[in-house]
Amino acid sequence: MAAVNERQFIKNQEYLRQVTSLLPAISGIYTQYDVSYSSRPQGGSEKAQQSFAAIIEHTTTRKLPIAAAVANRHCRRKGCDHRQDKCRKTYSSEKSIAASERSLLNEKLNNVRTAGLITLRSVTTDASTQLAKALREYKAEKNMNFSH
Ligand SMILES: [Zn+2]
Repeated sequence: MAAVNERQFIKNQEYLRQVTSLLPAISGIYTQYDVSYSSRPQGGSEKAQQSFAAIIEHTTTRKLPIAAAVANRHCRRKGCDHRQDKCRKTYSSEKSIAASERSLLNEKLNNVRTAGLITLRSVTTDASTQLAKALREYKAEKNMNFSH
C-alpha cells in the first residue's frame, strides 16, 4: 500500500513494549486515533477522495505512530484495472469516504492486536459519536478492555 511503512510501526510498537517493560508503572499504551481528509466531506456532496488515518501513542513524549493507513478512492493511472501493485486505489468507489473513518479504525486496531506487542490502555478520538460506537463494538467483539 502506498506511503505507509508497516515495518516502522512494528518497530515503534517494539520500542513501546520495551518502555513498558522497563517502567512497570505504565500498564498499557495511551493512544489517539485521528483521520484527515484530502478535502473535508461537507453538506451532502462528498468531495474527499482520500483519507489518512493514524493511531498515535501518547504514553511517551515521542508521540510515535503505531499504525496508519490511507483510504484512496481515486487512481490516476490511465487504463488501470485497479488490480496491480502500482495502483494507488485502496478503497472502493462505492463506499463513502466518511465511512473509512470507521473501517480504517477497525483495520488498524486489528493490526495492533495481532502484532501482540503492546496493550492498549486507551484510544481517544474526536467527539464523533460514530467512532465512539465503533470503539464500543470493537471492544465487545474482540473482548478487549480499553477506555475511549
Ligand atoms: Zn488503479
